[in-house]
Amino acid sequence: MKTNLLNYDLQGLTRHFADMGEKPFRAKQVMRWMHQSGAQNFDEMTDLAKSLRHKLNEQASIEIPKLMMSQESSDGTRKWLLDVGTGNGVETVFIPESDRGTLCISSQVGCALECTFCSTGRQGFNRNLTAAEIIGQLWWANKAMGVTPKNERVISNVVMMGMGEPMANFDNVVTALSIMLDDHGYGLSRRRVTVSTSGMVPQMDRLRDVMPVALAVSLHASNDEVRNQIVPLNKKYPLKELMAACQRYLVKAPRDFITFEYVMLDGINDKAQHARELIELVKDVPCKFNLIPFNPFPNSGYERSSNENIRVFRDILQQAGFVVTVRKTRGDDIDAACGQLAGQVQDKTRRQQKWQQILIGQQG
Ligand code: SAH
Ligand code: SF4
Repeated sequence: MKTNLLNYDLQGLTRHFADMGEKPFRAKQVMRWMHQSGAQNFDEMTDLAKSLRHKLNEQASIEIPKLMMSQESSDGTRKWLLDVGTGNGVETVFIPESDRGTLCISSQVGCALECTFCSTGRQGFNRNLTAAEIIGQLWWANKAMGVTPKNERVISNVVMMGMGEPMANFDNVVTALSIMLDDHGYGLSRRRVTVSTSGMVPQMDRLRDVMPVALAVSLHASNDEVRNQIVPLNKKYPLKELMAACQRYLVKAPRDFITFEYVMLDGINDKAQHARELIELVKDVPCKFNLIPFNPFPNSGYERSSNENIRVFRDILQQAGFVVTVRKTRGDDIDAACGQLAGQVQDKTRRQQKWQQILIGQQG
């Protein structure tokens, strides 16, 4: 079996080259070829000795996930569907804004955490993406869009808000983050790379220690009773523990606030009393709020809060001094709303079993 070099960050690549008897700077060269020049084979790497290229061809490969489909919305939003085998696909979305370009990428095929309002969660869990499949999403988007005429990167921000729970695929996500941040990779700023989690507390601590990037936490409720209903993981890590983990994260975070995501579900979590309870809940955590109008999907059983309720909710938070954004729905014509990426998931696991594995897996 050939080794897929797309699975390595610089450290892993350097180790791999050392094992091959090659110098460390070769790893940097190959990294730049793969991620900055978009090279798909070793013969393109013209500044490597022919003998090394030959050796790489024998032993290694660059396996980029195959593109199943790409779409562009009338508002400039773009979407790619990548083939991750056996009938499964994962989605990646690019959202252009005046001052930045954000790529929303997936970390798993499906998700085992079963948040009740999430179409990915409803589809069940198939498997973790490899580091190559995670970084492959940025590879494709970067290839499609390249740099601006001023030689600036079109993709300035990455958010891990596609399919899956990034913290449940910790090692592969960290490797991919490392490539995103590396100057020989995509050279993104730590402050502009965001991991979004539904609240896996031990992994939040680990991420802070090994790869502190910006953090978004899917809060969605102002008390445990409501959160237990819509984010089942809350039964394992209730709000008090989650708030404490957010505080610990901020000690080493590249930004001095946590972004709390809050999906607006009609009649469930969107009342004025919830907004007031929320203010009390987060009082010791420097934060901003991102209110996400619920994106409906068939048989979800939920409805989007009215614009009026969202406005009242936002005003209460703002009057208490919080920065609040209400997420605009983008790419509606290509179903590209964040948190709504459906992809194609063949659920081959018994959910209950997988759910338990995840909980056991995170105790260590
Ligand atoms: N698993 C991670 C990241 C992926 S989901 C997490 O849960 O944070 C990205 C965001 O979209 C999360 O805040 C998620 O709760 C939200 N989301 C999921 N389904 C949604 C829907 N139908 N409408 C609006 N937001 C949704
Ligand atoms: Fe998984 Fe996030 Fe969806 Fe919850 S909201 S099911 S954690 S992808």
